[in-house]
Amino acid sequence: MSSTPAIHRENGTLYIEGVSCSALAKQYGTPLYVYSRRALTEAYNAYASSGAKVHVAVKANSNLGVLSLFARLGAGFDIVTGGELARVLAAGGKASNVVFSGVGKSADEMRYALREGVKCFNVESAPELERLNDVAGEMGLKAPVSLRVNPDVDPKTHPYISTGLKGNKFGVAFSDALGTYKRAQEMPHVQVSGIDCHIGSQITDIAPYLDALDRVLDLVAKLKAEGVPIAHIDVGGGLGIDYGNGDAPPKTEQFVSTIISRIHEQEPTAEVWFEPGRSLLGNAGVLLTTVEYLKPGEEKNFCIVDAGMNDLARPSMYDAFHDIVPVVETAERGEDAASTNGVDGGATTWEIVGPVCESGDWLGHDRALAVQPGDVLAILSAGAYGFTMASNYNTRPRPAELVVDGETVHVVRERETVQSLFAGEHLI
Ligand SMILES: *Cc1c(COP(=O)(O)O)cnc(C)c1O
Repeated sequence: MSSTPAIHRENGTLYIEGVSCSALAKQYGTPLYVYSRRALTEAYNAYASSGAKVHVAVKANSNLGVLSLFARLGAGFDIVTGGELARVLAAGGKASNVVFSGVGKSADEMRYALREGVKCFNVESAPELERLNDVAGEMGLKAPVSLRVNPDVDPKTHPYISTGLKGNKFGVAFSDALGTYKRAQEMPHVQVSGIDCHIGSQITDIAPYLDALDRVLDLVAKLKAEGVPIAHIDVGGGLGIDYGNGDAPPKTEQFVSTIISRIHEQEPTAEVWFEPGRSLLGNAGVLLTTVEYLKPGEEKNFCIVDAGMNDLARPSMYDAFHDIVPVVETAERGEDAASTNGVDGGATTWEIVGPVCESGDWLGHDRALAVQPGDVLAILSAGAYGFTMASNYNTRPRPAELVVDGETVHVVRERETVQSLFAGEHLI
């Protein structure tokens, strides 16, 4: 593999592998999601080379083309709905490689997952366990389960993406876990297979994982003493990425090997499972957008672009930072854009905002950029929780999605048409 990063500059122009982002914007229009096959492959291999079992969190990026690449790499998948299972199967993934997480599994979703033969249900509550036992019983099957336990540790991330605290809706409370496992052991239609824990997302420090793991390993020892077999330990996902704002998460290889050795110290035969999403996909994708208007003002200068909160929800939803860069650097364009946009002084900072009718429709605050209408900007680190969180608010068709593989461009999702947005609606 080449040592040039998959997303890089050549003569001042941003490239995804062998294809320039200018050319992509011109040919396919903006807003446009572009993913690099090489970047996601490298991110996957950083996990998989350890021998751990990797289940790609489908909710981070559920495009069929993207999932098909992971399926070919031999990945498993972590799903939270029946819809995501259908996507995995349509992309060529195997149900026998799927773990089913989520707090609100319906009986229909359980039936579907049992019929297809998923590898494990990550059960998040006692009533869910009862329901799963009933549903599997009706079908004459035994459901493989692990309990998602809530270790009550603070992952020190955004409150909306922390999931392992007592006050979160996720998982079985730590104090109830032993009792719930014992109950599972008595059930005729569930089969205990392992234990699971997922404490949050965009975690940039390994310490909360080790804290959670200590608690989980304590529990595993108790479970074994009670005769409950724990063949796998699933440490969830959540490893953060560098969004370009100073976060410095550990390298995947280092993170994975630290976790595995800690588990194997105590449980040398346990299989170790991961459920990463963001750390596989986040930095493998960008969102390209075109500058529509510049609106310099007394207090703020607005740079209005053609992508909005409906295309990329993370800034408005989590106050998240995404680096925003010009696709063609100013020096290469041969002019000083800042001097021609009506604002004095080259060092202009901009509020990068979308066209959606909400003041919360912003993509970046206070960005120093030399821009002109018509320029294409790249919103970086948009490969995870980008398209999957997009909506049609303001009747905006969702962007096209591309996968670049070397010099080859695959359209893995066509841009939506306005017609398709109201195809299922009816006049009275
Ligand atoms: C969202 C989610 C993940 C993936 O989290 P990332 O932060 O994207 O790695 C893994 N497991 C479960 C249960 C999840 O809900």
